[in-house]
Amino acid sequence: MAESAFSYQINTDLIKSFYSVRAVVTVDVCVEEFEVRRIQELEAKRDLRKSGKPSTSNFECQICHRMCRSRIGLLAHNKSHS
Ligand SMILES: [Zn+2]
Repeated sequence: MAESAFSYQINTDLIKSFYSVRAVVTVDVCVEEFEVRRIQELEAKRDLRKSGKPSTSNFECQICHRMCRSRIGLLAHNKSHS
């Protein structure tokens, strides 16, 4: 009776350690995959940004004809003339 309880205890410990190791490995793999995917997305985003698509905006300064990217940018730029 005592022997079976002892072996049961050992088996429980083994199962617990197996699942905890497995859970840690699974989390590590998921974190690693997430990190790789995140870096790839950031690099793609950076490449898109650095490829320098010409701006098609129509926010041109009436004084110095500088092209601004947005209306608010043009408003901020106009303050430099006043
Ligand atoms: Zn200007």
